[in-house]
Amino acid sequence: MAGKLTKIEVRYEHPAKGVDHCADCEYFSKPDRCRIVEGKVHSDGWCEKFEEKKMAEEKKKKHAGHGYKKTHIEHHADGSHTTHHEHEDGPEHDKKYASADHDGMMDGIMDHTSAPNPGEAEAEAGPAPAAVPPPAAVPPPAGGGAPPPMGV
Ligand code: SF4
Repeated sequence: MAGKLTKIEVRYEHPAKGVDHCADCEYFSKPDRCRIVEGKVHSDGWCEKFEEKKMAEEKKKKHAGHGYKKTHIEHHADGSHTTHHEHEDGPEHDKKYASADHDGMMDGIMDHTSAPNPGEAEAEAGPAPAAVPPPAAVPPPAGGGAPPPMGV
């Protein structure tokens, strides 16, 4: 195919001397082709055009931080739900909980699998309580004498 680089141009190595390999490269095409370098390449080869696969980078993100690989939801006849998040690191990190209704189930999923949107936590907390003004001071009686008698 025209337009591809030669192995000499990209300093192709086989086997690779470093830790990166064609098998993990964005341009590798199984079983032995490269989209930008001509000829046959090996999965354990390498060249200076190596570019880590985007998929490999995505896998490193561990489900965007929560680490769950799948979620089971049991829908019960009374409207309640049991939600079970299975963690990719093993059952000791799993989470299982019951919710009385559909809203509770959705809240549980959001609480366990995502971070709040900016401002969401504050909005759920509600408005800050208004400051209570101090009690008004009672003015002393005029003239500084005793208060007038009551019930006269
Ligand atoms: S490292 Fe990537 S670009 Fe280089 S030969 Fe291998 S698959 Fe092609």
